Amino acid sequence: MPMFIPESLLNKEKEHVEGFAPEVAWVTMGGSEQLTERLCVRPTSETLFCEHYANIIRSYRDLPKLYNQWCSVVRWEKTTRPFLRSREFLWQEGHTMHATAEEAQEETLRMLEIYANFFEGDLGMPVLRGRKTDKEKFAGAEATYTVEALMHDGKALQGGTTHNFGDGFARAFDIKYLDRDNQLKYCHQTSWGVSTRIIGGIIMTHGDDSGLVLPPAVAPIQVVIIPVQMHKEGVLEAAEALRARLSKFCRVKLDASDNSPGWKFSEYEMKGVPLRLEIGPRDIENGQCVLVRRDNREKLFVSQDDLEAVIPETLEALRAALYEKALENRRNRTWDATDLDTLVDLANNRSGYIRAMWCGELACEEKLKEVADVTSRCMPFGEEPIGDTCVCCGKPAKSLVYWGKAY
Ligand SMILES: [Zn+2]
Repeated sequence: MPMFIPESLLNKEKEHVEGFAPEVAWVTMGGSEQLTERLCVRPTSETLFCEHYANIIRSYRDLPKLYNQWCSVVRWEKTTRPFLRSREFLWQEGHTMHATAEEAQEETLRMLEIYANFFEGDLGMPVLRGRKTDKEKFAGAEATYTVEALMHDGKALQGGTTHNFGDGFARAFDIKYLDRDNQLKYCHQTSWGVSTRIIGGIIMTHGDDSGLVLPPAVAPIQVVIIPVQMHKEGVLEAAEALRARLSKFCRVKLDASDNSPGWKFSEYEMKGVPLRLEIGPRDIENGQCVLVRRDNREKLFVSQDDLEAVIPETLEALRAALYEKALENRRNRTWDATDLDTLVDLANNRSGYIRAMWCGELACEEKLKEVADVTSRCMPFGEEPIGDTCVCCGKPAKSLVYWGKAY
């Protein structure tokens, strides 16, 4: 789909355009000529896909439709922060169209679970799964679901979102299909995305004072081999032979540069390489080598014969340890508030999530932003209420909400 969206197309769905208007960048000139119609630099591509759907969907046989594209989008953020909040970011955006509301809802939740599994399983980042309040949902969506991660400093990060649009856009763009019963019906739509913000999330979840700590699944180098006393006879050859062996089952680099081993240790620690393998003359004599984990610096003396088994096991242990550590951080930074004073006190003096009951009214959400500088992160799935009344107004509560301060 193209990068520019004609203004008339963006204007078709009212809530969508109102929601995005404050952060849209506009192209008004083409070369030296004023354009007759402004072009928006895409902040997201629903309107483009809808225009496309309207041209290609005729019958129930055409459904469902599923598209995914990787592209840059632009949102005119007032304050930016590298990786976490930038005006231009690379993302993946998926778009689907379905015959029924039930199918669309199923897809919306299925993608949320895929994202959650990616965060937890591959990135070692525990996430809350839940639904966004109306204030925080995607403009034009009936419902937005989110996976929320907590950074090591207690700031919340929206990791990825999935949206169920119902038939709102379909009505605005006149996207209908002829069903089996010969009736024309509106389609039901979803979209979902994650962005390079994830990189910021990885840094802020796992990083430490020595630099990056990368989860093995996404580490460009999983094991770095550093020869010790490399100019002694046979060391470099042995290191190279190990590199060739390891390259069959992991991403490995041999650093045979002239930098000292100590320099190399620090360099690859800073770059977050999960495992370091040291090999020197004495190791060669003993048929062993030394493995050092990036996360806890644990040193393992391993027989060279066992590397095919030990390296994958150690990478997995490292991933699990990253996850456990991040989960422990979230546990230690999750607080409950059942009255407003407690909530304000927690927001001022602690960092992390505050769990509190909410009546569902926008006024209370706005008041909490004003008095405690917190926003609603999500209404979590599957958690028990912690009271009956709204933490803000005291009226009957509708949902438990995680509140927090976000990047
Ligand atoms: Zn309330």
